Amino acid sequence: MAEKTGASSALEDISDAELLNLESEHLARSGGRPDAAKDVAAGGTLAAGSEPGPGPSPARKRKRKRDLSGRSPMERCCRRYLKVTEVCGQSWCELQVLYGFEYPLVLKAEKERAEVKAGASIHLAREREVHDVVQVCVVTREDRQAVKFLNLLGMISALQTGCCVRELPAIGMLEGVFMVGVIDELRYSDKGELVLNELKTRRHKSLPSEAQAKGHRLQVGLYKLLFDGMVRGSLSRDQVVEHLELRLERALGPGVLEHARNLGFRVAAFGDVLDLLLVNLKYCELPCIDLLRLEYCHQGSGDIVGSQDVPFDEDQLRAQLRHYLSFWFGQREPRGVDIEDAWKCRMCSYAEHCEWRRGSSQGSVTVHTDKKLK
Ligand code: SF4
Repeated sequence: MAEKTGASSALEDISDAELLNLESEHLARSGGRPDAAKDVAAGGTLAAGSEPGPGPSPARKRKRKRDLSGRSPMERCCRRYLKVTEVCGQSWCELQVLYGFEYPLVLKAEKERAEVKAGASIHLAREREVHDVVQVCVVTREDRQAVKFLNLLGMISALQTGCCVRELPAIGMLEGVFMVGVIDELRYSDKGELVLNELKTRRHKSLPSEAQAKGHRLQVGLYKLLFDGMVRGSLSRDQVVEHLELRLERALGPGVLEHARNLGFRVAAFGDVLDLLLVNLKYCELPCIDLLRLEYCHQGSGDIVGSQDVPFDEDQLRAQLRHYLSFWFGQREPRGVDIEDAWKCRMCSYAEHCEWRRGSSQGSVTVHTDKKLK
């Protein structure tokens, strides 16, 4: 069955690009000028845990109980923004996404899986095809974000000159939530259309099941909304500072200052880099994305398994997003998988303690699941 062979988990396909971004959060490009197209990897002097992240405390109760405090999941999970991949993960199983926050060590182990890492290294190799990589030492969260924004400035210049860019950070407000993502690739077609190409690596030489493809379509659609918003100048200083919890006046570290200087930028504090970015986005006159494409590549051989163009219907996409966000706003309870998708539980790391699967919410799910798993 396609679902069983093609879908070891939602994580396998959905998050490899952003996993790469997570693992090399200090990656930077040096393309601050049209002729510059070097990548920069930070030195990684940021000590693990030295900067408080937006995630939840690891010390959570094993069994999730209905929260009666009146706080929404956004508040309970201490989130000021969501990643695109987190929202896309909801299309696979919403409860699985929530368990990812409640059991962070399980999620970390998932990301260590060989196939997820293989996907990340394929993305890194492809990125290096269009950018060189250099090291930049980062110390603070503002340093790290400044390097990302300097990367983005370089990519704006590269796109203006008709070049291809990879691993482009995309951020902005969507339906009341600040969202962040990483676009795999943007390039111009022969007809001059701006094409977003999202690479998905596959363990098997097959196209994904519909259950996975649904999340992929949502992902590229959200990337388009974010990118289009940025180049239309909708991103504001206050949104970035408030949602990413950054201090404008914070002085940049020596590594970032040197990197910025090498790119030709005279900056001193994080706010200087943010202002540079916002002005450049406002006046860049880049087009919105014309075409969304998914490309599936076999992990073992690197062969292209297939590609699909994705239709874009903004109203439908925003309605779908509002539905997923209503959970984060606390307007409804999270959902596990539907009965016909109970096969997903078989490969879920949280199955052991999943209340949905155990049938506390829907007794029939457990019965149906067990039947399928025999
Ligand atoms: S066991 Fe099934 S319902 Fe529960 S989180 Fe995993 S996939 Fe979702």
